[in-house]
Amino acid sequence: MDIIYPLAVPKGRRLCCEVCEAPAERVCTACTVTYYCGVVHQRADWSSIHEKICQLLIPLRTSMPFYNSEEERQHGLQQLRQRQKHLIEFCYTVAQKYLFEGKHEAAVPAALHSLRFRMNVHGLSSVELVPAYLLLAEASLGLGQIVQAEEYLSQAQWTVLKSTECRYATHSLLHRNLGLLYIAKENYEEARYHLANDIYFASCAFGTEDIRTSGGYFHLANIFHGLKKLDLADTLYTKVSAIWSKYLNDRYQVLSRARIQQVDLLGKRFETDTGLDEAQEAEAIQILTSIWNIRESTSNTAPQKTIFVLKTLFMLYYLMMNSSKAQEYAMRAFNLAKEQHLSVHEQNTIEELLSLISAEEAHPIT
Ligand SMILES: [Zn+2]
Ligand SMILES: [Zn+2]
Repeated sequence: MDIIYPLAVPKGRRLCCEVCEAPAERVCTACTVTYYCGVVHQRADWSSIHEKICQLLIPLRTSMPFYNSEEERQHGLQQLRQRQKHLIEFCYTVAQKYLFEGKHEAAVPAALHSLRFRMNVHGLSSVELVPAYLLLAEASLGLGQIVQAEEYLSQAQWTVLKSTECRYATHSLLHRNLGLLYIAKENYEEARYHLANDIYFASCAFGTEDIRTSGGYFHLANIFHGLKKLDLADTLYTKVSAIWSKYLNDRYQVLSRARIQQVDLLGKRFETDTGLDEAQEAEAIQILTSIWNIRESTSNTAPQKTIFVLKTLFMLYYLMMNSSKAQEYAMRAFNLAKEQHLSVHEQNTIEELLSLISAEEAHPIT
């Protein structure tokens, strides 16, 4: 629904653009509760997030119906909060996914929505606002708007400082983004300090070997790689690959068995089975493919390391139900193992992966 009509603003009511808060001149005709300064912001919002939440906004933005009793009113309020909370999470995940895919511009409207819903539900100084500030900071960094990124980050830092109930996970995210800011400013000393803090807080929240801790190690590795401290980078990349490999392998072991049984018994297809949300899947792809690209350059001297990442990518795509990509990575691993004359055992294990996919293709799952 991309049709736009100029808006006749009733006298005395000031309506604001969804994206920039300038006076509005247009309305979305599909929901009639969302306004824009012009066609540019309407299009940007539509393709970022509005298309996905247009209809969900109607009950949030139309005035509350008349209730017969206090009980009904409370119930109505509770439902409204529930809807707002759902939208907070939804917009957050959408924005995060764009960021991992490198689509910084598209992430902005979605992140702004997450921020506004948070303000409505939790108030202006709540730590619940911090994750949205961090998304906006990351998007700004990606767009090269360093000053804007710093503003969002200082908002986030200030909110965290004032708060007494801030979770480790939030501290970790804040430091990760500060780390990325200083990487963008080429101040690697500061960046390392913040990434070390990110790893510390993420470890407190999730443990040292958790996929949510791996992001800090990954960015730290990138710094060392950029500074040509290749040994340190190598150790950290190995750690990151190992964390993801273990996580995916655990799920893979259980699910590959379950999936084949399921196919045989019911002929039914599973949904994606990574146990990750869309943003985490996008993060996994980003981290693992960039480690793979780095490993490629040392494939001749350390083929095992490349193969390890390729197998991890195979498991990821296999669990994401993308069998052509999974097959592609298994083939790459297989060819590399052959080229480099790796042990027969290594070649066999990769052949098993390939046969798993062809087994599924032989029993088309519908
Ligand atoms: Zn605007
Ligand atoms: Zn709409």
